[in-house]
Amino acid sequence: MEIKHISFAYQDKVRRLDNVEAEITKGQITTIIGPNGSGKSTLLGVLTNNYQPQEGQVIIDGKAINKYKPKELAKKLGVVHQQNSAPSDMTVEKLVYYGRLPHKNTFSPQSEKDEQMVNWAIECTGLSEKRHDAIDTLSGGQQQRVWIAMALAQDTPFLFLDEPTSNLDIYYQYEILELVKQLCEAHGLTIVMVLHDINQAIQYSHNLIAMKQGKVVVKGNPKLVVTKQLMREVYNVNVAIKNDDDVGMYIVPLGI
Ligand code: ADP
Ligand code: MG
Repeated sequence: MEIKHISFAYQDKVRRLDNVEAEITKGQITTIIGPNGSGKSTLLGVLTNNYQPQEGQVIIDGKAINKYKPKELAKKLGVVHQQNSAPSDMTVEKLVYYGRLPHKNTFSPQSEKDEQMVNWAIECTGLSEKRHDAIDTLSGGQQQRVWIAMALAQDTPFLFLDEPTSNLDIYYQYEILELVKQLCEAHGLTIVMVLHDINQAIQYSHNLIAMKQGKVVVKGNPKLVVTKQLMREVYNVNVAIKNDDDVGMYIVPLGI
């Protein structure tokens, strides 16, 4: 996926993305970092054709995304937004099945492939035992996994996750990150996500895109992107950079 000179403003005409240029490498995990309001969600919105940029293009497999038919694009891109809501009494299975809709015509019955994909999505998100439970009886971490399962049932090569670990306690944060890693490594998905935790971003990403005020400040290998200077420039915080034999590089925030 190529992101070419994207500039974007909402109705208020304020430029929220300013000449964003990047490449999303297939089969890898790319994480967007940056402070609140820096344009991370807006960029995901443009990359998934939710918002049309005033300038620039997003290209998938040699074709601009606004040239794809909606259903065609839905077979390429799965998205889990920052906020998700479903009728609270809906079951896990039912919601995950909605992921299959891009593959169906209005009246086509459930196919074997639909069932296979729904089963796979439920299994690899560890929700088998919750399959028939209502969404609102699940924990936050489980609910987050249901949304991911729905996107997985969609059977797309690209998966976009906006802050998938927010509002989860630390165990469930890592549970989601391990799932993301497995989806990339074992199933070849290309993942683009937004994370707040810099250490998790370093640990789980092949590439980082650091944003500030709608601009890409720096991008590339996490170990090269995350520096004391970058953390000062982008977040206005002081950090120390450390190395651990097991996890590799990490930061320690020292203050403002
Ligand atoms: P992030 O995800 O990095 O926190 P966003 O992409 O949500 O940032 O927002 C980037 C900027 O665009 C912010 O200043 C935000 O207030 C503004 N913004 C977000 N959504 C809208 C909208 N629908 N209309 C107008 N401005 C918006
Ligand atoms: Mg956001």
